[in-house]
Amino acid sequence: MCWLQALNVRFWGANSTVGQLMAALLFGGTSVFGMLTPITLADGLILDARSVILSMAALFSGPLVAGVAGAIASGFRVWLGGVGMWSGLAEILLSVGLGLVYRRLYLRRRVGVGVSQLLAFGLILQVLGLLLYSLLPSEYVAFALQQVGVPVLLVMPVATLLLGLMLKEILQRTDDERELRIAAIAFNSLNGMLITDASNRILRVNEAFCAITGYSRAEVIGQKTSLLSSGRQSQAFYQAMWQQLKETDSWHGEVWNRRKNGEVFPEWLSINAVRNAQWQVINYVASFADVSERQAAQEHIERLAFFDPLTGLPNRRLLLDRLQHAMATSVRSAQSSALMFLDLDNFKNINDFHGHQAGDELLRLAAERLTGAVRSSDTVARLGGDEFVVMLEGLAGPPEAVAAQAEHVAEQLLRAVGAPYRIGPLTLRSSTSIGVVLFSDDACPVEELMKRADLSMYAAKAAGKNAVRFFDPRMQEAVSKRLRLEEEIREGLQTNGFILYLQPQLDGKGGLIGAEALARWQHPQRGLLSPVAFIEVAEQAGLIDELDLQMLKQTCRQLALWRNHPQAESLSLSVNVSARFLYQADFVERLVLLLEQSGANPQRLKLELTETLLLDDLPGAVIRMNALKALGIRFSIDDFGTGYSSLAYLQRLPLDQLKIDQSFVKALPEDGNSASIIRAICALASSLKLEVIAEGVETDEQYRALLGMGCQSFQGYLFGRPMPVEELERLMAAGVEGECRVLAPCAAVPLICAE
Ligand code: C2E
Ligand code: CA
Ligand code: CA
Repeated sequence: MCWLQALNVRFWGANSTVGQLMAALLFGGTSVFGMLTPITLADGLILDARSVILSMAALFSGPLVAGVAGAIASGFRVWLGGVGMWSGLAEILLSVGLGLVYRRLYLRRRVGVGVSQLLAFGLILQVLGLLLYSLLPSEYVAFALQQVGVPVLLVMPVATLLLGLMLKEILQRTDDERELRIAAIAFNSLNGMLITDASNRILRVNEAFCAITGYSRAEVIGQKTSLLSSGRQSQAFYQAMWQQLKETDSWHGEVWNRRKNGEVFPEWLSINAVRNAQWQVINYVASFADVSERQAAQEHIERLAFFDPLTGLPNRRLLLDRLQHAMATSVRSAQSSALMFLDLDNFKNINDFHGHQAGDELLRLAAERLTGAVRSSDTVARLGGDEFVVMLEGLAGPPEAVAAQAEHVAEQLLRAVGAPYRIGPLTLRSSTSIGVVLFSDDACPVEELMKRADLSMYAAKAAGKNAVRFFDPRMQEAVSKRLRLEEEIREGLQTNGFILYLQPQLDGKGGLIGAEALARWQHPQRGLLSPVAFIEVAEQAGLIDELDLQMLKQTCRQLALWRNHPQAESLSLSVNVSARFLYQADFVERLVLLLEQSGANPQRLKLELTETLLLDDLPGAVIRMNALKALGIRFSIDDFGTGYSSLAYLQRLPLDQLKIDQSFVKALPEDGNSASIIRAICALASSLKLEVIAEGVETDEQYRALLGMGCQSFQGYLFGRPMPVEELERLMAAGVEGECRVLAPCAAVPLICAE
């Protein structure tokens, strides 16, 4: 019966209806079979094992099986009839009932189904069964008890135990098989899984593992798990992981691993240790999910949170974040920033007349143009609708200079946005109004700054649109002034308002050897202006190269005139060159043309460059200088000692002269540091075979000190201020006549004091 039941459970399952009915037939049938071959005590009084079978059927297979089996057994018992019929039926009822009670207690975990419990149950069942003999006609009771009492109590509990253990084993085995099947299905989940031995060698992997890592089973079985490691995690990371595994038998977290094709990917990994009965780790089971897609989704979500979907520009949230950051940086770096609010003029009309699609396209194009008009370190954001914000950072200089820089960028933005837009067959135009607020610290809250920029933008709209307005009226005034000045410089350059002044340069014996060309501006209203009033503005307005060119032209003309002048033919003239001029693409060609046209002797021309200017593009500077050097033009490093003064670049350049900066000269003779620096510059120049000239020499003590330190040439108020050419020519002539000691062989006291 047990063997058939095992087959039945495996085939139909213990809990399916068919399986249960089959089991009922089996148990009922066996009971009937038992009753067919009973120990017959008297006619109609039989002894068999149906109580054992039915009680165990109730315990292990439940009410349905036991009920049907009991009904079958009862039917047969009734059909048999005889004196024992009623007690026989009662015994069937008792067995099923008591078995079900036991089952209930077992399922509630009140009792177990071990050897002693089964024995005890068998004994109780048989004792109660014997009590049922009282249902027999009275003349049979004593007889029956006497005949079977002891054997029943000895044999039946043991039979109950044996049958119970066998049925329990059948159920357990099918349970185990089911567990295994579930485990196998779980192992083939969508998560990658691998099982290793205690020393991390891979024993099994699932399909998903192969799909995720790209390795086949054969390639990884027997390999160490380090095969997958990406090298992204530190040694310390793995140490911490193993430590936790050792302590808690499990670990989970994010790990970067490497696929077979070399691609590194993030995975969510959980590892569990499996221990044997001796509590030794025998396996590790790891399950992981590839989270690269999840991360990509997360990044996408982040993008949505911080960027405007239409233009891809930072949105308000990110802008506020950057603004906060810019304020903090401004405090640290002592540099200023500008916040600009832009609102497209009449954008609503475009939307209304040409539709939202055209409007969107225009916004996209405008965003592109704004981004293209600023440095990559600046921020262009879209607040929504047709409102944009541009934030410029790292603006250096005094407030007016900062305002001017912001103004220039704003003008560029106006031009960029104002250019026509080609959208499909349409050509659309749009202008913008810009409000600007400057900040150099975090004194003003972010929201307040935004409000100010917004207000200024409305002021720009009120001023007729396509305009820039600053929040601070003083800034507005300064910017206006500056713009006026730029315009005047532009006019001055067109009307030859910039004139050449020369400041004499002398040798150690007081002999005139040349002069520095310095610009002066003959301003129509303000009179003669010094470079302080215009050089920086000209530089920022992009006009300095034109100014340099004009000075260079005048200098060349002067050199050409002096070619036949007995006292002046050997003089050289130094001209200041700005970075913008030097790095012009056709700088060399223009200079060559200028020399040719003027007829100046290139050997008499010296160009003054500063260190910072050279370092902008050292290779470019070297190429240009070498080309000019070949013509005979000479080079001096202006303001030497204030820049980087690196020996490496000095050697690479075709230089002739170092010009010691005035700040060192001014500090003489008291300041020991300056003296040391000047001495070092003189030694350096001598070893590199360069001349040295000291500028800003104002006193006799300075002059003598410089002479003592090995300086060879001099320039400064002590010998003469910058002066018009005619004045220098007059002094030269006077020198020849012995009136002025500037041309005398040994100068000791200042004599040229004109300007
Ligand atoms: P820099 O090239 O360092 O010119 C020397 C400046 O020092 C000149 O000022 C000169 O007048 C002044 N100086 C000369 N000797 C003395 C002295 O003994 N004491 C004092 N206190 N100052 C002295 P300036 O003419 O005002 O020129 C200022 C700067 O403007 C120049 O500095 C130069 O960087 C720039 N600059 C002048 N003309 C031009 C030009 O044509 N092109 C360019 N790119 N820059 C120019
Ligand atoms: Ca100079
Ligand atoms: Ca200088």
